[in-house]
Amino acid sequence: MTCCYCGGDMIETTTTYFEQLENTIVVIKNVPCHKCKQCGEVLYNAIVVERLEQITEQLEQALTEIAVVNYSAA
Ligand SMILES: [Zn+2]
Repeated sequence: MTCCYCGGDMIETTTTYFEQLENTIVVIKNVPCHKCKQCGEVLYNAIVVERLEQITEQLEQALTEIAVVNYSAA
């Protein structure tokens, strides 16, 4: 797999996903992704993107200011 920005090698790894919503900051740890060795661009596959959306929606309803969850445990 090569990076669509710089053409560098993408490696399988995990990352921490951040999203700022209207009332909540969501932090999801240990999210599986592909990351470019050269520029650091991160790509998530479709299943992961869907899961992130689900987790984010749930956390938004929890009405906490900062929500930190582990991807595999969420
Ligand atoms: Zn790159």
